[in-house]
Amino acid sequence: MQTIRGFRDILPEKISLWQKVEKEATHLFKSFGFKEIRIPILEKTELFARSIGVVTDIVEKEMYTFEDRKGDKLTLRPEATASIVRSYIQHKMYAKDPIRKFYMIGPMFRRERPQKGRYRQFYQIDAEIFGVESAYVDSQLIFLLNELFKRLGLTGLSAHINSLGCPECRPSFQKALLDFIELKKDSLCENCLRRMDKNPLRILDCKIVDCKKALADAPATLDHLCHDCSSHFDTVKTTLEKQGLDFIVDKSLVRGLDYYTRTAWEIQTTALGAQSAVAGGGRYDGLVKELGGPQTPAIGFAIGFDRLVEIMEQIDNKKEARTIDLFIVSLGDLAMEKGYHWSLELNQAGIRTEMDFRGKSMKALMKRADKLKAQYVLIAREDELKKKTVVIRNMNTKEQVLLAIETLVPELIKIFNK
Ligand code: ATP
Ligand code: MG
Repeated sequence: MQTIRGFRDILPEKISLWQKVEKEATHLFKSFGFKEIRIPILEKTELFARSIGVVTDIVEKEMYTFEDRKGDKLTLRPEATASIVRSYIQHKMYAKDPIRKFYMIGPMFRRERPQKGRYRQFYQIDAEIFGVESAYVDSQLIFLLNELFKRLGLTGLSAHINSLGCPECRPSFQKALLDFIELKKDSLCENCLRRMDKNPLRILDCKIVDCKKALADAPATLDHLCHDCSSHFDTVKTTLEKQGLDFIVDKSLVRGLDYYTRTAWEIQTTALGAQSAVAGGGRYDGLVKELGGPQTPAIGFAIGFDRLVEIMEQIDNKKEARTIDLFIVSLGDLAMEKGYHWSLELNQAGIRTEMDFRGKSMKALMKRADKLKAQYVLIAREDELKKKTVVIRNMNTKEQVLLAIETLVPELIKIFNK
C-alpha cells in the first residue's frame, strides 16, 4: 500500500525542523497576543465557494469536494481564513469583543499537480486579526512574518506588496482593465476569455506565459485607488520603511482568492525553483459581512509550512557540509602531545576541533580531515615545531600560513570568531 499521490508521511527523522518552526511560531504569536483556534478539516463546500470565489483556481480546479452519504456537498479545507471567519460569525465573537487575533497550524488540501514545494495535503501556519482597520496592523503582520523568518535563520526572502483597492475603487479599475483586455483578446487563453465576463481581475492571475506577456502593461489596481485606499497604502509603506523592512511594490500581485481588499502581500524566495511564495496575506474587509456577520475589517496571512521547512533543510545541509572547524594533523610524538593540549583549549573555546591519535601518515590524516569536512587543518611536524611554528591550511582556498606556536591558540580563536 502506498500514500495517495501528493500526500506524504513526514517521518520521525525529518520532524525536528517542523517542531522547531511550531515552537518559534507559537511563541511569537503569543507575544503578539494571538490565541490558537482549531477549526474542522471538513466544511460545507458553499463556505469556500462563497468566500474564495467561484471563478478562482482553488474553487474551480483544486478543491477536494464530495457528497457524503446523505448527499451533502462537503470540501476538505483548502485554506483556513474562510473557516475562521465562519467560526467568528457562528459564535458571535464580535458581540463580546470584535477585536480578535487567531492563529492555527494544520493541514490544507488542494488537488494540484504535485512537485517540489507543492503537495495535495500541505500545511499552513495561519494568522488572522479581526476588527482593526488601521494600516498599522498590516505592517505589524508583515513585521511578525519577517521576525519569524529571521528567528528561523532564513535569509534572501523578499516581501512583495500591493493594494487591491476596495469596492469603491473597483469599478473604475475594472472598466480600465476590460478596455485593455478587449484589445488583447486574441492573445489570451480560453480560461481568461471565460473569466472576462465573470471576474476580470482573475485574468491578471493567469499563469500561462503568453497571457502574462499580453497582460504585462495591463492597468493596475494601484493606479485606480480611491483616496482612503491610497492613504492606507501610504501608511503601510512608510511604516514598513520605519520598521527597517525592505519590500517591493508589485503592481501585478493579485493573489488567487477573491476576498482580498487593500493590502495584499507575498513573501517570496528563489530557493525553491518555480514555487516562489513561502507566505501570502492580505486584508479582507468585506468577507465577514459577505458571510453573514456585521461589517468587520480583517486581515491575515498563511505560511506554506512545507516550503518553509524545505528552505530550512537547504540551509541545514549547507551547514552540515562543513562539520568541524579544525583538524590537527600531528606527525610524531612531540606533535601529538602538543596537538592534544591545543585541541583541548580550542574545544574549550567552542571551536570544533578533532585530531587522530593512531599515529597515521600525513596522507592518511589528510584523508581523515577531508572525511570530517574540516574547514582548516593544522599541520604539526617535528622539524617545524623545533622552529616554533606550525602550518595552518584553509581547506576551501588551499591557502597556507605559518603561525608561531607561542600565540597559536589565541590566533586560532581570532580566526574562528571572525
Ligand atoms: P501558489 O501561487 O504557489 O499556488 P497560492 O497563492 O495558491 O500559492 P495561498 O493560497 O496564498 O497560495 O497559500 C499560502 C501559502 O501556502 C503559499 O504561499 C504557499 O507557500 C503555500 N501553498 C499553497 N499551495 C500549496 C501546495 N499545494 N503545497 C504546498 N504549499 C502550498
Ligand atoms: Mg495555488
